[in-house]
Amino acid sequence: MPRYEFRCRSCGDTFEVSRPMAQSSDPAACPAGHEDTVKLLSTVAVGGTSQGAAPAPAPGGGGGGCCGGGCCG
Ligand SMILES: [Zn+2]
Repeated sequence: MPRYEFRCRSCGDTFEVSRPMAQSSDPAACPAGHEDTVKLLSTVAVGGTSQGAAPAPAPGGGGGGCCGGGCCG
């Protein structure tokens, strides 16, 4: 379940809330009970692996530039 980071504008505390993505935009009260909170940038994997975007494979099977033009025959 993804975790979302919130910051309380009443006491300035930051806290995380684990909730389904469908409720990611719902308001969350801080641990001290304040409801004036704002959602920070999504920190789905805190201290975990960074899922970098892998480079997409080249279309067409990855041939060289030569054999596509008929110069190899
Ligand atoms: Zn608070």
